[in-house]
Amino acid sequence: MKINKSNLSFKNLSYSNNPQSIVLHHAEASKCSIEDIHKWHLDNGWAGCGYHYLVRKDGSIWRGRPENAVGSHVSGFNQNSLGICAEGSYMKETMPEVQKKTIIDLCKYLCNKYGINKIYGHREVGASNCPGVNYPLEEIRKAVLSDKETKSYIKLDGGGYVNYNGAPGINLIIRDYSADITRVFAWVDSDKGSSWAFDINPPNGNYTKLLKNTSKIINIRNGRDTFSKGTYYKIKVKGYNKDGKIVAENEIMLRIPN
Ligand SMILES: [Zn+2]
Repeated sequence: MKINKSNLSFKNLSYSNNPQSIVLHHAEASKCSIEDIHKWHLDNGWAGCGYHYLVRKDGSIWRGRPENAVGSHVSGFNQNSLGICAEGSYMKETMPEVQKKTIIDLCKYLCNKYGINKIYGHREVGASNCPGVNYPLEEIRKAVLSDKETKSYIKLDGGGYVNYNGAPGINLIIRDYSADITRVFAWVDSDKGSSWAFDINPPNGNYTKLLKNTSKIINIRNGRDTFSKGTYYKIKVKGYNKDGKIVAENEIMLRIPN
């Protein structure tokens, strides 16, 4: 795999990127070079090309921002991700095999380098239709992650919590979850008909945005019941994939302080 150096001069970059995921994009342009993208993004008033890599239709790889530079490709994720853009407009076009194979190789290289096991399409983590309905997102993700991560998981943490009014509650933390999980519901073991919802793309205000280390403080359960001090509660969680299928479950015992 050959990575072509690009001769781009950036304005002020911030070198605090801590890559924990890869976000895939398309250029929404049938033909473009790394220089074209650099110019477009400078024209946006950005520091320059917002992606870390461009993969062209001929399978060539071009360097954008340095990997340790904070990107400008997906709002809210730029501090801890690498952005890979594919030349092409994949709402309509079909990706050439050589381009797809190169994106898989580049993702594998970056996943190994940084211990990454999450690959997202832009639309899964931001308000966008990028990288387009024809972009082979699942195929690429599966090819890269299949030999790394086959089992779905949710890792929990948290503790009992008493707020400044003395109201007892639970602080539930979703430390980590596998890349296929897009939605998580949590509830107290014995409660029926009441849950706390987390989602990658929250559909309404009842949902908390699902990110690694998402923390949610819960004071009310079942719509009206409160927690009792000094008591243990079993919190159960279920993780759903984008098709609404339960792919992982976990539970944690948390004690409310006296
Ligand atoms: Zn995008």
